[in-house]
Amino acid sequence: MTLLEIKDLTAHYGDFQALFGINMAVQEGETVAIIGANGAGKSTFLRAVTGLHSTRGQHIVFDETPIAGKGGDAIHKAGLAMVPEGRRLFRSLSVEENLLIGAAGKRKGPWSLEEVYRLFPDLVAKKHNPGTALSGGQQQMVAIGRALMSNPKLLLCDEISLGLAPRIIKDIYDAVPQIRERGTSILVVEQDVSQAMAVADKVFCFMEGRVTLSGAPSELSREQIAKAYFGMGEAA
Ligand code: ATP
Repeated sequence: MTLLEIKDLTAHYGDFQALFGINMAVQEGETVAIIGANGAGKSTFLRAVTGLHSTRGQHIVFDETPIAGKGGDAIHKAGLAMVPEGRRLFRSLSVEENLLIGAAGKRKGPWSLEEVYRLFPDLVAKKHNPGTALSGGQQQMVAIGRALMSNPKLLLCDEISLGLAPRIIKDIYDAVPQIRERGTSILVVEQDVSQAMAVADKVFCFMEGRVTLSGAPSELSREQIAKAYFGMGEAA
């Protein structure tokens, strides 16, 4: 079943057009990755889907309900949860308090404190520590756990690997199959192309506000991706 369907999505900042007719569908149970260089429109796309950027009158259907033009709260209640770029934890609150904030207004579903700790065992010993006492990777785990605590149908992740060491990125991405096993679909925005290709069932490449390439990673060549990502023939 199609969980998220977007047709011909546009977005503007004043006179500046940031998105030009984006089409995308995420099926239930899928992991989808959006890749693209700085300024390609990835964050604007996420902001539009989560109601942070106006989409009134456009076609965004989530779980068979039109959500374009609705506020962030209503979209969250419908089952979309965002892991924002930069993690944005409440740094003076403990890990557990941060996770519980994510549970406010939660939907029914598989995610609970216990399940988040099972997903990220590193957090168990830190549960009473403040956000300030965590490594970057642990903060990212809390940010993902906090979003999962609302029991979303679709988890949106904005550049979750940014600024983290490769080993930590692996730990974070190792959680993706477990998240999916519990029935949560995932849409990640990722600048690390190899990581996106490794984790996703389907990849969309954005360039200058347009989808320049999409498909299953196994169907896409390095040359196609380089062209769609950078607008040139050879990988940089
Ligand atoms: P990054 O990886 O750097 O976050 P991105 O792919 O997420 O890039 P966006 O942040 O969506 O790209 O930006 C898309 C375009 O919209 C860029 O040209 C950017 O300069 C512009 N833009 C983004 N936010 C604003 C804003 N608040 N006001 C005006 N223009 C903006």
